[in-house]
Amino acid sequence: MRQHITLREVGLRDGLQIHPTFMPTEDKLAWIAAEAASGMREIEVTSYVPPKLIPQFADAEAVTLGALRIPGLTVAALIPNLRGAQRGIELGVHKLNFVMSVSETHNMKNVRRPPADSVIDFRAIVELIKRQPANQRPIIVGGLSTALGCSYEGRVAVSQVVKYATQLVEAGADEIVVADTVGYADPNQVREVFKAVLAEVGKIPVAAHFHDTRGTGLANVSAALDCGITHFDASLAGLGGCPFAPGASGNIVMEDLCFMLDSMGFDTGVDIERLIEVRSLIARSLPDIPMQGALAKAGLPRNYVMAAARAVSA
Ligand code: ZN
Repeated sequence: MRQHITLREVGLRDGLQIHPTFMPTEDKLAWIAAEAASGMREIEVTSYVPPKLIPQFADAEAVTLGALRIPGLTVAALIPNLRGAQRGIELGVHKLNFVMSVSETHNMKNVRRPPADSVIDFRAIVELIKRQPANQRPIIVGGLSTALGCSYEGRVAVSQVVKYATQLVEAGADEIVVADTVGYADPNQVREVFKAVLAEVGKIPVAAHFHDTRGTGLANVSAALDCGITHFDASLAGLGGCPFAPGASGNIVMEDLCFMLDSMGFDTGVDIERLIEVRSLIARSLPDIPMQGALAKAGLPRNYVMAAARAVSA
């Protein structure tokens, strides 16, 4: 049995949130449908932030409801607070991703409260979810951004990452996401942080969320795989960028990640060629958005055989 790696597309949220041009709702839904058809089983489709804060997500309700009509797709959304959780529950979204920053300065700038207060907010969100009928409870994810570095504070202590991961799990998180929000991480640091987090909260899924801002993205994935991480975020065409580094690369590129994992013999469930075709939907809809991706430029290696077929013939 090949080991399965769980992938989550985050381009519609992390990728689009800093892009000034609104992607029409029907284009977002076409992207979601096409990527789901390529085998992507989980997509973070939007963010329940106030539309006046990020107009790109003014259609959060329509995008969520459209995505929920796709059979077999886990529909996730980011929530900044309790109000966001309420919106998600009312819509019937499958998974809510709560995000707080490990870095005090980053959290203050983002949500105007210290990280300890964000943990209190998270407890209230979990209480709200627990009050829902069992069959209507979304999975609640605790996300730790700036866990591998902060654009205000620089290095972030591993002990702080472990502390907040532990507190989110004690508060009731079903999963944890550890994020290198600004793309500072290197593979050695990834091993150090993820080993420490897994030692404390490894009983629940721990996902890695890397940005390729400084070119270390896939190397960091490899380091996380070595630690036993099997859940990864990425975005199609590496959409994402970084508000602190204009013109920089964004999230790790989903197509390149799928190729690397498939080459290594992991099972992603994704048809890489169909995934690459989805890029054209984005290029048509947002001609001005920067698109990354080595595989899309170079193509698959000559006579490349997908891991699933290799496994059959072996
Ligand atoms: Zn991110």
